[in-house]
Amino acid sequence: MTFDLPSLLAARSGQGYELTGRYLNPQLPRMLHAIGFDHAYERAEGAYLYDSHGNRYADFLAGFGVFAAGRNHPVIRQALHDVLDAELADWVQFDTPLLPGLLAERLLARAPGMDRVYFCNSGTEAVEAALKFARCATGRQRVLYCDHAFHGLTTGSLSVNGSAEFRKGFNPLLPDACVPLGDLDALERELRRGDVAGLIVEPVQGKGVHLAPPGFLAAAAGLLHARGALLICDEVQSGFGRTGKFFAYQHDDVEPDIITVAKALSGGFVPVGATMARGWIFDKVYSSIDRVLVHDSTFGSGAAAMSAGLATLSVIEEEGLVENAARTGEALRGALQEMADRYELLGEVRGRGLMIGIEFTKPKSLKLRTSWNMLQAARRGLFAQMVVVALFQRHRILTQVSGDFVEIIKLIPPLTIGDTEVKLFGEAFAEIMDDASRGSGLMRDFGRTLVKQAIRS
Ligand code: PLP
Repeated sequence: MTFDLPSLLAARSGQGYELTGRYLNPQLPRMLHAIGFDHAYERAEGAYLYDSHGNRYADFLAGFGVFAAGRNHPVIRQALHDVLDAELADWVQFDTPLLPGLLAERLLARAPGMDRVYFCNSGTEAVEAALKFARCATGRQRVLYCDHAFHGLTTGSLSVNGSAEFRKGFNPLLPDACVPLGDLDALERELRRGDVAGLIVEPVQGKGVHLAPPGFLAAAAGLLHARGALLICDEVQSGFGRTGKFFAYQHDDVEPDIITVAKALSGGFVPVGATMARGWIFDKVYSSIDRVLVHDSTFGSGAAAMSAGLATLSVIEEEGLVENAARTGEALRGALQEMADRYELLGEVRGRGLMIGIEFTKPKSLKLRTSWNMLQAARRGLFAQMVVVALFQRHRILTQVSGDFVEIIKLIPPLTIGDTEVKLFGEAFAEIMDDASRGSGLMRDFGRTLVKQAIRS
């Protein structure tokens, strides 16, 4: 029988939850059910998802940040059709195909100081390469990271993860040390030990949307270089215009030694990651013909991934998405910041471009504090989860809590959104804050629902 994908999808439609529970991560359907996110989506376009009943959901999660150019962008889709139709000789392995060279050329043009690129298939792989390159180039072992850091979940990346929950059960990891984001004294103290290969840092952190203080990256680079260590900027989430500059480190006056990217470069179609570095670092790693494959991956530089990357970069440039992220992000942050004066539950609104964190805080009034304390006693982060659920169930807006046990919501919508989506989100969020501030149904009902779900599971 000939394989027929459309028939298979039609025949097994609606079985995704059951199959995931039976054969994949069993906790995923349980979690989605507990928070009422157990919907099946049929179609997606731009900044919107559609379910089987034709309901539209505004996607402020963008697949954890991969859909910078919006979902199913026609230009990127066409590039993928074209590359398949070209029937190229992909992954010969002992050859030098054109597409990786073209994508490298284009990436490096946006990152002055970087000379070469290593292509891989995910963010964590890009980070693994960065860690290995830093250690090889400096001949030292330890890579420093910041508190709250997230750089992926393979073993090397996990060694530079700033959350104990992720590390639990996987020790021992690589030698490392945590430096509070922005703390130059702590960095200097670690550097004095003489064994530091580098510092890896997200210019805007994905977990909690914490920003490196202005001038920190440049000052850190100065300290690192004085001690022969490297600055690695992880732009896996913050890169490609997300923060209103092409790379988020470009808000500071600094040139990193190594840059990691992934997510948005894929256009949301074909996984791709890349590690860019200064030429001398590559020269140390690939120091002789014998070491030509010393760091490599079978599926790196695939034609589909490279084509998706090239098409995505074109779309980002031609549609002015970096500028749009800066402009729309400011409008959205501005609207939310205004609300912080109005709602005592709303603590801080921060971020850059379209990478926005909304942090809730303990209310002052007695009436609200009782409900807040009840939720905190059940689990820290429940209030933020309650808002995420209300945004989804009442307003069909998809968002996420930005990490475990934090009262922070993160917004990372496609960079294509405009005034319509800013208004949509602002009105929905205000309605929920109004409700929560009245101490009415919202907080109590949700608290009860989740506590019940937690007890049952
Ligand atoms: N680095 C950063 C800053 C990230 O946000 C992520 C993923 O969220 C990663 C690395 C890991 O990327 P991936 O999930 O593609 O392995």
